[in-house]
Amino acid sequence: MIMRILVVASEAVPFVKTGGLADVVGALPRALARQKHDIKVFIPRYSQFDSGRQQLKPYQWSGAVKVGCRQHTLSVEYVADRRLRLEHYFLKNDHFFSRNGLYHDEARSADYKDNDERFVFFNRGVLETVRQLDWRPDVIHVHDWQAGLIPAYLKILFPDDPFFGGVRTVLTIHNLAFQGTFDKERFGLLGLVEEHFYPTSPFEFFGKTNFLKAGIVYADKITAVSPRYAQEIQTAEHGCGLEGVLRERSADLVGILNGVDYSVWSPTRDKKIPFRFHPANLSGKRMNKVELLRELNLPSREGTPLIGIISRLADQKGFDLLADIADEVLGLNLQVVVLGTGERKYHDLFTRLEQRYPDKLSARLTFDDNLAHRIEAAADMFLMPSRFEPCGLNQMYSLKYGTVPIVREVGGLADTVTDFDPESGQGTGFVFKEYTSAALLGAIKRAVNLYGKRRLWTKIMKSGMKRDFSWDTAARKFADLFRELVER
Ligand code: ADP
Repeated sequence: MIMRILVVASEAVPFVKTGGLADVVGALPRALARQKHDIKVFIPRYSQFDSGRQQLKPYQWSGAVKVGCRQHTLSVEYVADRRLRLEHYFLKNDHFFSRNGLYHDEARSADYKDNDERFVFFNRGVLETVRQLDWRPDVIHVHDWQAGLIPAYLKILFPDDPFFGGVRTVLTIHNLAFQGTFDKERFGLLGLVEEHFYPTSPFEFFGKTNFLKAGIVYADKITAVSPRYAQEIQTAEHGCGLEGVLRERSADLVGILNGVDYSVWSPTRDKKIPFRFHPANLSGKRMNKVELLRELNLPSREGTPLIGIISRLADQKGFDLLADIADEVLGLNLQVVVLGTGERKYHDLFTRLEQRYPDKLSARLTFDDNLAHRIEAAADMFLMPSRFEPCGLNQMYSLKYGTVPIVREVGGLADTVTDFDPESGQGTGFVFKEYTSAALLGAIKRAVNLYGKRRLWTKIMKSGMKRDFSWDTAARKFADLFRELVER
């Protein structure tokens, strides 16, 4: 059965990206379109926007969208894929989206004060545009809090609407730590009668308005980005206060592991690395390492592993564990390259460590996609000691590049990396369980020791390179889920 699927999210590769969400919204719709489904993806038209060589076309409809009691103009641009039934629509309003950041105002070091207004505008604007297009979706797939109101609008405003009535909704949760919570006084912006807001109502969360909670309550199905994370978010440790709401929906909550876009992230096809390589011939990987060490001004030392880190520098990612044992780690026979941006304290940490260990650690505190590829291709190990990790992409990229992951057993990391077992010689990485510096140090030491045993090390690399997390598998699971809903 060919389905019409409307995808709504706040970012998508190749147009605009701040994190893994954009990778998913870039790749999953494409994989579904390859399976012949008819797909339209909607994202806001920000000022930071890269359409590449694609020519955006204006869609000859512009309207007004009501947010609270104010009308805001909306215009729409789109681009259609030449080969697939896949179109991207960009909702434009300069007041809301022509800013320095997507969600966060760097100048004030705070989220934009009107993020609620901006995404109410976006959610309502999507529904109005789809109606104008006269293209009735079978399923609306919404991502994260920025699109979380759409399932609520459908159920509350349009249950018997000739156009939207019966349209199914699926919410995917990429990271429960971001929920879109706003003061309760702002509920009026949503354009729903005040009776919808009361303690424990679908919109209310500890006295605030919560967009993600509304999505969780009203969506027909909910997915989380890995099976382990789908379980974890139903517990107090990882539920961010929504565990009770999620447990109530547990019959409709499934984990579907994100895929990897291997046309972009694979050492045999990567256009951004100096030397391509293959499991059967890893000499290119060694040459990438020599090149990268030269670029970073780190000395090249035979037998010394290079550990890569590419990450948002946020508490989620577990760098506080590393901070506690940094001197011990850097006392080992290893080198480290860090690529990341984020919280000041971690910028300071890595800057300090670079000064103290200039021949061992290089810190590039920026966002640089090309360098990310070169690090994946060059490093021997990849470190991801996350406190929580809904899915995580870099450990999957690392596996493909023979860059052996050192990860904590949590979320998607637990679903994708298997701990090396010296007895059986099986495993694709080094996994530690407890969120402690001692456990992290233990895993790093195990990896560094094994790096000296070349035959075993190559075996671990190659087992990882064989793992396949392609989008086609994930897309089939989504299509099955959508079909089940449509046929219901
Ligand atoms: P999250 O979405 O929590 O940030 P993921 O591992 O799921 O983490 O995805 C992060 C994505 O962003 C990956 O594609 C990663 O390569 C990329 N990334 C993160 N930080 C940087 C950076 N400083 N430079 C380049 N790419 C980065």
